Amino acid sequence: MIIMKFGGTSVENARSMESVIQIVARERERQPLVVLSAIAGATNDLLTCAQNALEGKLDDSVSVLNNLLERHVTIAENIIDNRPSYQQVIQFCRRRIEELRNLCQGIAILGELTNRSLDAISSVGERMSSMILCEGMKQRGFSVELVDARTFMFTDEHYASAVPLFDRIDSKAREVFSPLLKSGKIPITQGFIGCTIKGITTTLGRGGADYSAAILGAALDAEEIQIWTDVDGVLTADPRIAPKAQKLKIISFREASELAYFGAKVLHPSTILPAIKKNIPVVVLNSKRPESTGTRIVANPPKTNVPVKSIASKKGITVINIQSTRMLMAHGFLESIFAVFNRHKTSVDLVSTSEVAVSLTIDNSEQLENIVTELKNFSDVAIYDQKAIVCIVGDQMNSTAGIADKIFSALGDINVMMISMGASEINMSLVIEENRVDDAVRQLHKEFFEPVPEVELFDAVGVN
Ligand code: ASP
Ligand code: MG
Repeated sequence: MIIMKFGGTSVENARSMESVIQIVARERERQPLVVLSAIAGATNDLLTCAQNALEGKLDDSVSVLNNLLERHVTIAENIIDNRPSYQQVIQFCRRRIEELRNLCQGIAILGELTNRSLDAISSVGERMSSMILCEGMKQRGFSVELVDARTFMFTDEHYASAVPLFDRIDSKAREVFSPLLKSGKIPITQGFIGCTIKGITTTLGRGGADYSAAILGAALDAEEIQIWTDVDGVLTADPRIAPKAQKLKIISFREASELAYFGAKVLHPSTILPAIKKNIPVVVLNSKRPESTGTRIVANPPKTNVPVKSIASKKGITVINIQSTRMLMAHGFLESIFAVFNRHKTSVDLVSTSEVAVSLTIDNSEQLENIVTELKNFSDVAIYDQKAIVCIVGDQMNSTAGIADKIFSALGDINVMMISMGASEINMSLVIEENRVDDAVRQLHKEFFEPVPEVELFDAVGVN
């Protein structure tokens, strides 16, 4: 069997939903199980409407809800011709919106919004989208079955970012889905939503539908997990910076994880961990271009002689240089530095140390002032802002001689402030001036990918 997860943009309107149906139909022989997100923007809207209610702006809440209902009705109208099923879907959506109106009223009156209520509210997006798709498919003659995620996706009670109870999910998911799949049915279920043992609705956190897909895939020993989104997959660079960027056919989980920090708009690799642990390939595909072959993310891709796979970058980086001749070699110095960042809930991205100094980078400088004040209690601190990180990723980089040489000669006159690369690292990260970062990416891309290395690893973007 395979898991086919469709993100919000894949079901944002009737046309997209129509192509989802065709994409699923193509895979009919492989026993697909469909995991669905809410339609694009719906989860945001639902959260906004709860927030409005909390602030006493009930009219705003209601108008967000009405809009949302309108969008669902329009999709249903265009997807479902059969009158009774259309009526059934509309009824369902109207009821959910009505419930939400009441909930919002309660929130406004009490002036209180708990995460538990938030989950009850935000889960409605997936419940409506899956209902519409299910009826749309039925009408086209598919034998489908809508399975409420709350019958198998058991979680703890950490509302808004609930932790899945894997053992329970594994056995229940098998019990629920195996007979359906055996009888040739296509099950459709909601991503993102879960449920406590006591039966209260929870959610797995924003973007949680990928996680749902991976958890289900792992529970059911799927042969593949397809994550359908609106990008072709993982690229060698951002094509807006390097127009000759190529799509990678396959990439390791570790490589994908390194790239995730740089906002590779694909998926957050930690969400697919349950699948990777079981060696189930995850394929990122573009529902706007169903003929595209996507990027496979696997635990151990076959070795190639291509050391560098992708170049990513991130602007808005601040470098903090911490110096203390007195303390550096004393044990506990690094610990006291990190404790400061920890206290201010600021995560450190790159670290590089010398005998007398520690340099590190952060991308969230909200707490910078407080951090610096504390660091100054025991060291000298210098701040450099408007920097950028360029990250060169490839899991054979550390075993290929001459890579650093190539990187630095490609950079030419671009000054490198800080370098980070560990012993088993699959990436080299460099800190440079923000205003040179696009040049750096272009020059590195030219060095490593232009011309495209002759290996079965690359596809031109927008071709396949
Ligand atoms: N609809 C949820 C969100 O937008 C879950 C998902 O799409 O992954 O966060
Ligand atoms: Mg999403």
